[in-house]
Amino acid sequence: MSDTTIDSLYDSHIALYPDFPQDGVLFRDITPLLRDPVAFRQVMDHWCSKIPSDIDLIIGTEARGFVFGAPMAYALGIGFVPVRKAGKLPGDPRSLTYDLEYGTATVEIAEHAIGDGHRVMVVDDLLATGGTARATVDLARQYGADVAGASFLIELEGLGGRDVLDDVPVTTVWSVP
Ligand code: AMP
Repeated sequence: MSDTTIDSLYDSHIALYPDFPQDGVLFRDITPLLRDPVAFRQVMDHWCSKIPSDIDLIIGTEARGFVFGAPMAYALGIGFVPVRKAGKLPGDPRSLTYDLEYGTATVEIAEHAIGDGHRVMVVDDLLATGGTARATVDLARQYGADVAGASFLIELEGLGGRDVLDDVPVTTVWSVP
Protein backbone atom coordinates (compact mmCIF):
# COMPACT_ATOMS: atom_id res chain seq x y z
CA MET A 1 0.00 0.00 0.00
CA SER A 2 1.53 3.30 -1.06
CA ASP A 3 1.97 6.20 1.35
CA THR A 4 -0.23 8.30 -0.95
CA THR A 5 -3.10 5.83 -0.64
CA ILE A 6 -2.78 5.76 3.14
CA ASP A 7 -2.58 9.58 3.25
CA SER A 8 -5.79 9.83 1.25
CA LEU A 9 -7.70 7.78 3.84
CA TYR A 10 -7.27 10.36 6.59
CA ASP A 11 -9.91 12.86 5.49
CA SER A 12 -12.49 10.17 4.76
CA HIS A 13 -11.87 8.01 7.84
CA ILE A 14 -11.13 10.36 10.73
CA ALA A 15 -14.11 12.43 11.81
CA LEU A 16 -13.55 15.87 13.34
CA TYR A 17 -15.64 17.14 16.25
CA PRO A 18 -14.95 20.76 17.31
CA ASP A 19 -15.15 21.62 21.00
CA PHE A 20 -15.26 18.03 22.26
CA PRO A 21 -14.84 16.99 25.05
CA GLN A 22 -14.24 20.64 25.94
CA ASP A 23 -14.16 24.01 24.22
CA GLY A 24 -11.15 24.55 22.00
CA VAL A 25 -10.39 20.86 21.38
CA LEU A 26 -10.81 19.48 17.85
CA PHE A 27 -11.52 15.82 18.63
CA ARG A 28 -10.31 13.22 16.10
CA ASP A 29 -12.74 10.30 16.06
CA ILE A 30 -11.48 6.95 14.74
CA THR A 31 -14.94 5.35 14.40
CA PRO A 32 -15.16 5.67 10.57
CA LEU A 33 -11.79 3.92 10.21
CA LEU A 34 -12.75 1.07 12.54
CA ARG A 35 -16.10 0.75 10.77
CA ASP A 36 -14.49 0.14 7.33
CA PRO A 37 -12.83 -3.30 7.23
CA VAL A 38 -10.84 -2.63 4.05
CA ALA A 39 -9.42 0.69 5.20
CA PHE A 40 -8.80 -0.63 8.71
CA ARG A 41 -6.76 -3.52 7.31
CA GLN A 42 -4.85 -1.23 4.94
CA VAL A 43 -3.96 1.15 7.74
CA MET A 44 -3.02 -1.61 10.18
CA ASP A 45 -0.82 -3.36 7.59
CA HIS A 46 0.89 -0.06 6.78
CA TRP A 47 1.32 0.79 10.46
CA CYS A 48 2.72 -2.68 11.27
CA SER A 49 5.33 -2.23 8.53
CA LYS A 50 6.74 0.69 10.55
CA ILE A 51 7.30 -1.43 13.68
CA PRO A 52 10.84 -2.83 14.03
CA SER A 53 11.09 -6.62 13.83
CA ASP A 54 12.93 -7.08 17.13
CA ILE A 55 10.09 -6.02 19.45
CA ASP A 56 8.91 -8.39 22.21
CA LEU A 57 5.80 -6.51 23.34
CA ILE A 58 3.36 -3.84 22.23
CA ILE A 59 2.16 -1.75 25.16
CA GLY A 60 -1.08 0.11 24.46
CA THR A 61 -2.71 2.87 26.46
CA GLU A 62 -6.35 2.69 27.58
CA ALA A 63 -8.62 2.83 25.71
CA ARG A 64 -7.85 3.46 22.06
CA GLY A 65 -4.34 2.11 22.42
CA PHE A 66 -6.05 -1.23 23.05
CA VAL A 67 -8.09 -0.97 19.86
CA PHE A 68 -4.95 -0.64 17.74
CA GLY A 69 -2.26 -2.22 19.89
CA ALA A 70 -3.87 -5.63 20.36
CA PRO A 71 -4.48 -6.35 16.64
CA MET A 72 -1.02 -5.02 15.90
CA ALA A 73 0.52 -7.45 18.39
CA TYR A 74 -1.59 -10.27 16.92
CA ALA A 75 -0.46 -9.44 13.39
CA LEU A 76 3.19 -9.26 14.44
CA GLY A 77 3.00 -12.45 16.50
CA ILE A 78 4.13 -10.78 19.72
CA GLY A 79 2.56 -10.02 23.09
CA PHE A 80 0.34 -7.13 24.12
CA VAL A 81 0.34 -5.38 27.51
CA PRO A 82 -2.51 -3.00 28.39
CA VAL A 83 -1.63 0.25 30.15
CA ARG A 84 -4.63 1.00 32.37
CA LYS A 85 -6.04 3.99 34.11
CA ALA A 86 -5.81 3.98 37.89
CA GLY A 87 -7.63 1.37 39.92
CA LYS A 88 -8.48 -1.13 37.18
CA LEU A 89 -5.75 -3.72 37.71
CA PRO A 90 -5.70 -6.41 40.41
CA GLY A 91 -2.61 -7.45 42.30
CA ASP A 92 0.22 -5.02 42.78
CA PRO A 93 0.55 -2.95 39.60
CA ARG A 94 3.17 -0.26 39.24
CA SER A 95 1.73 3.19 38.65
CA LEU A 96 2.90 6.60 37.54
CA THR A 97 1.06 9.89 38.00
CA TYR A 98 1.63 12.73 35.57
CA ASP A 99 0.40 16.29 35.16
CA LEU A 100 -2.43 17.32 32.86
CA GLU A 101 -3.39 20.88 31.96
CA TYR A 102 -5.88 20.73 34.84
CA GLY A 103 -5.03 18.13 37.46
CA THR A 104 -3.24 14.80 37.14
CA ALA A 105 -3.73 11.33 35.63
CA THR A 106 -2.30 7.96 36.54
CA VAL A 107 -1.28 5.03 34.33
CA GLU A 108 -0.71 1.49 35.59
CA ILE A 109 0.83 -1.73 34.29
CA ALA A 110 0.17 -5.13 35.83
CA GLU A 111 2.86 -6.66 38.00
CA HIS A 112 5.13 -9.06 36.09
CA ALA A 113 3.66 -7.93 32.73
CA ILE A 114 7.00 -6.64 31.43
CA GLY A 115 10.25 -8.46 32.06
CA ASP A 116 13.66 -6.90 32.58
CA GLY A 117 15.20 -6.19 29.16
CA HIS A 118 12.02 -6.74 27.16
CA ARG A 119 12.04 -4.60 24.04
CA VAL A 120 8.72 -2.77 23.90
CA MET A 121 6.86 -0.39 21.58
CA VAL A 122 4.35 2.11 22.99
CA VAL A 123 1.22 2.40 20.83
CA ASP A 124 -1.70 4.83 21.02
CA ASP A 125 -4.19 6.37 18.66
CA LEU A 126 -3.03 9.95 18.99
CA LEU A 127 -0.02 12.00 20.10
CA ALA A 128 -0.98 15.47 21.35
CA THR A 129 1.10 16.99 24.17
CA GLY A 130 2.89 13.69 24.74
CA GLY A 131 2.09 13.52 28.45
CA THR A 132 0.35 10.14 28.26
CA ALA A 133 3.07 8.53 26.15
CA ARG A 134 5.83 10.06 28.28
CA ALA A 135 4.32 8.52 31.42
CA THR A 136 3.92 5.17 29.65
CA VAL A 137 7.56 5.14 28.53
CA ASP A 138 8.75 6.01 32.02
CA LEU A 139 6.52 3.38 33.64
CA ALA A 140 7.75 0.68 31.22
CA ARG A 141 11.31 1.62 32.09
CA GLN A 142 10.55 1.05 35.77
CA TYR A 143 10.16 -2.62 34.80
CA GLY A 144 13.55 -2.56 33.09
CA ALA A 145 12.02 -2.42 29.62
CA ASP A 146 14.07 -1.33 26.65
CA VAL A 147 11.66 1.13 24.98
CA ALA A 148 12.33 0.87 21.26
CA GLY A 149 9.92 3.63 20.31
CA ALA A 150 6.45 5.08 20.41
CA SER A 151 4.05 4.81 17.49
CA PHE A 152 0.79 6.65 16.87
CA LEU A 153 -1.98 6.58 14.30
CA ILE A 154 -2.22 10.39 14.39
CA GLU A 155 0.25 13.04 15.50
CA LEU A 156 -1.02 16.56 16.13
CA GLU A 157 1.99 18.56 15.07
CA GLY A 158 2.84 21.67 17.01
CA LEU A 159 1.64 20.48 20.40
CA GLY A 160 5.13 19.44 21.42
CA GLY A 161 4.55 15.71 21.74
CA ARG A 162 7.69 14.76 19.86
CA ASP A 163 9.81 17.06 22.02
CA VAL A 164 8.42 15.46 25.17
CA LEU A 165 9.44 12.07 23.73
CA ASP A 166 12.89 13.23 22.65
CA ASP A 167 14.64 10.09 23.96
CA VAL A 168 12.56 7.59 21.97
CA PRO A 169 12.05 7.26 18.21
CA VAL A 170 8.51 8.37 17.26
CA THR A 171 6.66 7.02 14.22
CA THR A 172 3.20 7.94 12.98
CA VAL A 173 0.76 6.98 10.26
CA TRP A 174 -0.64 10.49 9.87
CA SER A 175 0.89 13.77 11.05
CA VAL A 176 -1.54 16.67 10.85
CA PRO A 177 -1.40 20.36 11.81
P1 AMP B 1 -1.51 13.69 25.17
O1 AMP B 1 -1.17 12.98 26.46
O2 AMP B 1 -1.77 15.14 25.31
O3 AMP B 1 -0.49 13.37 24.08
O4 AMP B 1 -2.91 13.10 24.71
C1 AMP B 1 -2.97 11.84 24.12
C2 AMP B 1 -4.19 11.08 24.58
O5 AMP B 1 -5.36 11.89 24.63
C3 AMP B 1 -4.47 9.94 23.61
O6 AMP B 1 -4.79 8.78 24.37
C4 AMP B 1 -5.65 10.43 22.79
O7 AMP B 1 -6.57 9.40 22.60
C5 AMP B 1 -6.27 11.57 23.58
N1 AMP B 1 -6.42 12.82 22.78
C6 AMP B 1 -5.78 13.99 23.00
N2 AMP B 1 -6.15 14.92 22.13
C7 AMP B 1 -7.07 14.35 21.32
C8 AMP B 1 -7.83 14.80 20.19
N3 AMP B 1 -7.71 16.06 19.71
N4 AMP B 1 -8.66 13.92 19.58
C9 AMP B 1 -8.76 12.66 20.05
N5 AMP B 1 -8.09 12.17 21.10
C10 AMP B 1 -7.24 13.00 21.74
